[in-house]
Amino acid sequence: MVYKICAVAIDASTFSIDKLYDYKIPNELCEKVQVGSRVLVPFGKGNKRIEGIVLSFREKSEYDLLKMIDDVLDIEPILNEKQIKLAIWLRERLACTFYDCIHAMLPSGVWFKRNDTYTLLKDDIKQFEKTEYYSILSCFSECKSLTLEQIRAMRGNKSILIKLDALCKQGILHYESKIKKNINDKKVNMYRLACDYNEAIKKESKRNIKSKNIKLDVISCLADGQKLSKNELEYLTGATSNILSGLVKRKIIECIKEEQFRIQICENINIETENKLSKEQETVYNSIKKVYEQEDNKFCLLHGITGSGKTQIYLKIIDYMIKQNKSAIILVPEIGLTPQFINIFTARFGNNVTILHSALSVGERYDSWKKIKMGLCKIVLGTRSAVFAPLDFLGVIIIDEEHDNAYQSENSPRYNARDVAIYRAFQSKALLILGSATPSIESYYKAMNGEYNLFELKERYGQSVVPNVIISDMRGIARSGFLGSIGNTLREQICINLEKGEQTILFLNRRGDSRIVRCAMCGWTPECLSCSTSMTYHSVNSRAICHYCGFSKKIYEKCPSCNSRHLVFETAGTQKVEKEIKEIFKDVRIVRMDADTTSTKKSYEQIFKKFKNNEADILIGTQMVTKGLDFENVTLVGVIEADQSLYAQDYRAQERTFSLITQVIGRAGRRFKSGRAVIQTYSPEHKVILHAARQDYIGFYNYEIERRKLMLCPPVSQILFICGSGKIETDVVDSLVRLKNRLISLMQGQFSDCFFTVLGPCSACIVKVAGRYRYHLTMRCDDGKRRRQLINGVLCEFLNDRLNKGVSLHIELNPYTI
Ligand code: ADP
Ligand code: ZN
Ligand code: ZN
Repeated sequence: MVYKICAVAIDASTFSIDKLYDYKIPNELCEKVQVGSRVLVPFGKGNKRIEGIVLSFREKSEYDLLKMIDDVLDIEPILNEKQIKLAIWLRERLACTFYDCIHAMLPSGVWFKRNDTYTLLKDDIKQFEKTEYYSILSCFSECKSLTLEQIRAMRGNKSILIKLDALCKQGILHYESKIKKNINDKKVNMYRLACDYNEAIKKESKRNIKSKNIKLDVISCLADGQKLSKNELEYLTGATSNILSGLVKRKIIECIKEEQFRIQICENINIETENKLSKEQETVYNSIKKVYEQEDNKFCLLHGITGSGKTQIYLKIIDYMIKQNKSAIILVPEIGLTPQFINIFTARFGNNVTILHSALSVGERYDSWKKIKMGLCKIVLGTRSAVFAPLDFLGVIIIDEEHDNAYQSENSPRYNARDVAIYRAFQSKALLILGSATPSIESYYKAMNGEYNLFELKERYGQSVVPNVIISDMRGIARSGFLGSIGNTLREQICINLEKGEQTILFLNRRGDSRIVRCAMCGWTPECLSCSTSMTYHSVNSRAICHYCGFSKKIYEKCPSCNSRHLVFETAGTQKVEKEIKEIFKDVRIVRMDADTTSTKKSYEQIFKKFKNNEADILIGTQMVTKGLDFENVTLVGVIEADQSLYAQDYRAQERTFSLITQVIGRAGRRFKSGRAVIQTYSPEHKVILHAARQDYIGFYNYEIERRKLMLCPPVSQILFICGSGKIETDVVDSLVRLKNRLISLMQGQFSDCFFTVLGPCSACIVKVAGRYRYHLTMRCDDGKRRRQLINGVLCEFLNDRLNKGVSLHIELNPYTI
């Protein structure tokens, strides 16, 4: 008997066993098994049934004893040829498994258990007694409706799908497939008070019980009919599931299931006509269109200063693609997906737009993905993972704010959406547009080398001009003992704005907001038990939180170590600035946008709306305020502590600082009124500050690229981190040392054609996170095929070596943080 053979990628757990395995296809499945179909196969010694995906067919196999595929799981292939190629490409680059890659590419909804139900439509099955179908039909003797799993359990795994399919076609069975939506994913548990607030407090205060304080906190949070999710309660009070269910049992609170946050893409579509492009915009648009028409190199870098109207060009290009029957993907950084941005696209393209991002519920994301796959939407707007949107006839991929590090995934698979976009655009002969006011050094370098076509927008749209920037030297005032955050110059400027009724954005150059509690008597500060780091203090809930593992604990008035009452709360950050402003200017209306105020759902949008509607004079924020905000009435931007991020350890610190300052200054004076900015700094002569103040990207680029050449950093050379982690510190270090020696010996032998250097092992910035120690080797190398062969081979060896048990390994190419 001759069987057809196919190569299957299996749902493997580790990179080292993740290979293609050959399987025979039983004849009755021959027509059903297609490239891209998921199949059920026996695997390993125990022939455990696991899932796999067919990647190709083979004429013959080099192995004799092939196992047989059990069944096919998809009627329609889940991946097309292009997607398979993309996954293979990713796998080789990221050193992860094939299934890791497709988990990133497909929405989690496709992995849900399918609820395939078959219902018997005939009353009498006796008539089929002599047919091949009888064994299946007899399953229905007790119950008219069965799920596929139930039938499988009764009839074994062998190719029942085909027979069931045939029975449906003959009208004997009725088939219905529902994606079994896991209730917990689709709905959230919301809590509210089950009795009167005072009564609840009374009941719980009387009891002398463990975690009484947390329980009382829960009750206060739910006062006034407030409904909160489990996560929100956990954040605000530290309540565990046990505590909550205890309260539910005592009928103090109750749990209701609520549909998770449903994003309504557009309610009443009001298709807007297009704006007329300015002369400069028109020229760029036409040149980009020409690039699209040329045979190769369709990659464009659009360097346009803030407020130059890059979005208008995107809209026009998408319009053009739609008219050519092509589709479009537009990516924005996580926090760039403001309601404002979504509105612009839906107002123009209506239902042809769909959204893909992480805040959608599992079901919504699945629905959105399905709509795209079915060809119902041609324009996909989304964050990082939307780069995988299953669009056919791709015309353009646009990456807005291309320099943003949100495009780099920090979890496995650690892909960069920019690289994936390049691959996809190349694969589909589509246009790629990378847009930014401050392109990444990597991208600009490629543009300089002719790898990208470079386009520039040098003017702001309309009458608006680039803001006037004052560099405010803080050294003098600091020497005189001033401890505040607002210097004289900035103070005067804010005053002018308040008088004119114009709005101000104050940007505190911090990532989150580091606040510390310290005991003035004994020096105690809260530390996370499982991470080597101190915890930050959040005043809204008076809790200390570990930002690495999420652990939190309540801080009371007394020091837990010496019992003194002298706890010092260093609420530097935005709160401190808020307090200071309130003391200087009475009655000023302030909103804050930081990790604290935007932690619960929708709060970001609320703050945004409040400021937009002129219900506040000043917006104080961390890095969240630098992107995508376009407010007409903002005419002043103040940058506080501009140098904060300048002296960080990684090679991108200066680039990031330049970009942050330039972007935030760009928020001022975006329409008819002219804007001003004040940069407060302790390094007023620093090149980065000077270039940012002049909004001089090219000047900065020329300065920075020389530095990169000296330091042998990207884009001149590649930096590869081989990161190991494990529970026993010495094991991690030892195994990395062995790995390093292996690399060096390979470089002297078999891989002498590969040039690289290896340093390390050295510890990550935070050595211990969630109980695991983290170390890495640093390689300076190229990104060639040979280098990847070397690394991937060494990784497999490493994972198969028993000596390295308990140490997990991953690689990061040119990472953003370490
Ligand atoms: P960028 O993204 O380059 O910083 P935007 O695309 O947000 O700039 O444009 C800045 C402002 O100018 C926006 O409010 C936008 O509506 C307006 N604008 C830009 N180009 C045009 C145009 N051609 N017609 C009308 N308004 C425009
Ligand atoms: Zn921790
Ligand atoms: Zn103390």
